[in-house]
Amino acid sequence: MSNTNNDQIESEGDERFSIKFLGTGNAAGVPVRGCSCTVCIKATANKDLRRESCCAVIEFGEQRILLDAGVFDLKYRFPENSLTAILLTHFHPDHVQGLFPFRWGGNDSIDTYAPNDKEGCGDLYKNPGVLNFYTLIAFDHFYIGEVLITPVPLTHSKITLGFCFEHRNVKVAYLTDTVGLPKKTEAFLRYWKPDVMVIDCAFPPQEIRPRNHNDINMVLKAYEEFKPKQMLLTHIGHKLDQWLNEYEQKLPEGISVVRDNEIYVF
Ligand SMILES: [Zn+2]
Ligand SMILES: [Zn+2]
Ligand SMILES: [Zn+2]
Repeated sequence: MSNTNNDQIESEGDERFSIKFLGTGNAAGVPVRGCSCTVCIKATANKDLRRESCCAVIEFGEQRILLDAGVFDLKYRFPENSLTAILLTHFHPDHVQGLFPFRWGGNDSIDTYAPNDKEGCGDLYKNPGVLNFYTLIAFDHFYIGEVLITPVPLTHSKITLGFCFEHRNVKVAYLTDTVGLPKKTEAFLRYWKPDVMVIDCAFPPQEIRPRNHNDINMVLKAYEEFKPKQMLLTHIGHKLDQWLNEYEQKLPEGISVVRDNEIYVF
């Protein structure tokens, strides 16, 4: 497994499975508007330190799957016929906001897989544009190309699914947004044994269990329990970035904090 910050894998056109993180921040992103903490001041001056809302793109062979839509420039990144599918974890605005402009125009129709949430977000169901919605059921696995995808329930304030991807011999679980994990998902992960866990971690260690997102204590517990070879933290808030500036080296070697535009190849 390797991590690269450039676009070299795009030109290699190989069969490996890669994730590019387009956004690794929480709903406010980093910097937070009006915040004068050191993290936000530095991120205002330096683009590389910014975090957009959660969004990633998975590539393998000719397939390209968008995983959530937190960033606003999707129409520039994904011109007509460049996406195989879209997977949505849930309908909170920070995960679907990029779809509002993206859905208009283009003659393609993009299969968009989402949890069974009747509310959705705004008028996305009513005016889907190019989005061709399919409803997912937890643990009902399906294939896109040769990747087997199993949706798993997460614990959040809106109906939310994580996605477990199996490509050749590599298993990658993408688990956001969540605070802890439902028992059924824990049981699945124990049996499935992910090599890589990408997981929601919004906060530094908290005294009391947070309500909607993991903190550092909770992801350390998950790391101990599921023992992935690699754990990648995303959905990061500015307070966690402040904490990481001081303590990131103290995290176990297998845990990395992802930055916007990083690419991981498996
Ligand atoms: Zn701040
Ligand atoms: Zn959410
Ligand atoms: Zn979120």
